[in-house]
Amino acid sequence: MVSFGVRADNPGLIEEKLSDLAEIIFSVFRKAEDIPKEIRDVDAIIITFEPINDTTLNNFSKLKIVARYGVGYDNVDVEACTRRGIYVTHTPGVLSHAVAELTLGLMICLSRGLIGADKYARTEWAKPSKTRLKMGIDLYGKTLGIIGLGRIGYEVAVRAKSFGMKIMYYDVERKIEAERTIGVQYVDLEKLLRESDFISIHVPLTPQARGLIGEKELKLMKPTAYIINTSRGPVIDENALCKALREGWIAGAGLDVFSTEPLPLDSPLIGMENVVLTPHIGSYTVETRRAMALMCIENVRAALMGMVPPNLVPEQRGVIG
Ligand code: NAD
Repeated sequence: MVSFGVRADNPGLIEEKLSDLAEIIFSVFRKAEDIPKEIRDVDAIIITFEPINDTTLNNFSKLKIVARYGVGYDNVDVEACTRRGIYVTHTPGVLSHAVAELTLGLMICLSRGLIGADKYARTEWAKPSKTRLKMGIDLYGKTLGIIGLGRIGYEVAVRAKSFGMKIMYYDVERKIEAERTIGVQYVDLEKLLRESDFISIHVPLTPQARGLIGEKELKLMKPTAYIINTSRGPVIDENALCKALREGWIAGAGLDVFSTEPLPLDSPLIGMENVVLTPHIGSYTVETRRAMALMCIENVRAALMGMVPPNLVPEQRGVIG
């Protein structure tokens, strides 16, 4: 039996490709304490953002695999799974293009004021007494600072390079190959914050990355600079970000991820004109979600057939199976 989080998409594909091996149950739980009775005996779960920890796992009698429908797995306690011999898999690589495209999209939205321009075209442009639309800025010639030059950060760098941007990056690991192939410059975080016109975050949410960008870091940024976050909300201290946006320490932000999701309707971000908000849609395209579903299916099939799944999270590689 496989349980499939109903918040994930492509249910038809999952059913079609797994029904020869397993009965599929569509279910959802938001808290570790709320595991529905009907999924407690499943062999596999495909999850999006459901919390997987000791409390959750205690509710499953024979779970073999937690297959995350996504690349980030900060909602999964990998150690707790490993202790129980449960595989944890994810979907790296196949979503990098989609997230990189959204990142560039947010940058263009900010640099050209596209949200305001759309509203202006609909409501102001034809009026004789129209106000003047604020002029945009070029991406060409600007400096992009990438925090986390992994799979997604790399794809952002390639695209930004073709826009004529200068690229610097900060990462816990130096990426010599990328420095050579795309021509990106490794810098420390402080230099990146001080010198970038656009900053884009692509680190996983680890304990070290939580709050990586707080008040001190935002104050180092240029008042004309924009920050884009398509990684995980808690990497930026959202209260500090709101203060920075309100008080003009920075020019604006493009955000796909938030400290609380869905973004609460009373969040101060909602009323701000210098932000562009998207509802965690980094990988949400037809092609990418299908590729992610196929990867999940491959992982679940392997586990159900007694094999090691191909896309184990790095912490489990060579450790389990
Ligand atoms: P990746 O592992 O390939 O790259 C992450 C990079 O960050 C690595 O180079 C790593 O060395 C670096 N890094 C890790 N911790 C760091 C730290 N504290 N400071 C600086 N650098 C650090 O991962 P990826 O596939 O590029 O994905 C990155 C993240 O993007 C995911 O973990 C996920 O949280 C997020 N994501 C969001 C969406 C979305 O829908 N918005 C979609 C996919 C992924």
